Amino acid sequence: MREIVVISGKGGTGKTSLTAAFAHLSENKVLCDLDVDAPDLHILLAPEPLHREEFYSGNQAIIDPARCIGCGTCQELCAFEAISSDGEVYAIDPLRCEGCKVCVTLCPEQAIDFPPRHCGSWSVSTTRFGPMVHAQLFPGQENSGRLVMLLKQEARRRAEEQGLDLILCDGAPGIGCPVISSLSGTTLAVLVTEPTPSGRHDLERVAELCNHFRVQVVVILNKFELNSDEAARIEAYCSSKGYPLIAKLPHDNIVTRAMVQRRAVTELPDCTFTEEIKRAWERIEERSRIGKQENSTGSK
Ligand code: SF4
Ligand code: SF4
Repeated sequence: MREIVVISGKGGTGKTSLTAAFAHLSENKVLCDLDVDAPDLHILLAPEPLHREEFYSGNQAIIDPARCIGCGTCQELCAFEAISSDGEVYAIDPLRCEGCKVCVTLCPEQAIDFPPRHCGSWSVSTTRFGPMVHAQLFPGQENSGRLVMLLKQEARRRAEEQGLDLILCDGAPGIGCPVISSLSGTTLAVLVTEPTPSGRHDLERVAELCNHFRVQVVVILNKFELNSDEAARIEAYCSSKGYPLIAKLPHDNIVTRAMVQRRAVTELPDCTFTEEIKRAWERIEERSRIGKQENSTGSK
């Protein structure tokens, strides 16, 4: 099975629009939105949920006011300043609580409960392009890396059950925990960037991350004509590192039109832009098959 993850070092590079186009162009796959903090692939793919589960991770301390005698011990001990008092009632800020359990253990009245923390939910859905696994973390919740792992495992399970040989993922921006989790088991990372100093800098960071985890990469430079100097620097960087630059896409209003219609850009009538995306997908397919072969033989 091949696993392709589309990522970018920063948000706003066009990553999700490209993932939706690849979802349209690819066959025999499970789709997976791993941007669990701010998912948006569903906006273009309109999934219809088949199955939904709540996501719990870690624990959260909660004071039971009926048992609390107001001694203040918990507030003194909390290293994260998560506990406050109005002089009478003590309460824990769920966004500050790190779940270390110190207050729970040392409260003299056993007045602090420690239930599992409800962090969000995940779903398996159908879309016009095939099955899709996706999730939503509640605002401010952590453990996005764990949720990403859960989604990948579910996607693999569905792919195996249905005899599908590809998992196509829309990854999170940046280089944080969800991106690191998304690289686990990945055959090929498609790095999407744009010709700006921050685009180049973030491309370098995410490429280094992939390199660290021995994940092969290809690069797509989006809106390349907006800054020819930066585009040239990105091309030079890719060339120096041996990262294949598989597409240079121009800025094109067709992307906005597709978004407004909630379609993948390749669902709109063919044009130079969509032809370029189709060629990019062919190169991704080819590279991912080579990567799969190399992974199975242990070479790189
Ligand atoms: S340590 Fe326990 S009893 Fe004391 S203020 Fe905190 S919750 Fe209340
Ligand atoms: S569990 Fe830890 S972080 Fe949370 S309120 Fe208690 S002492 Fe503070």
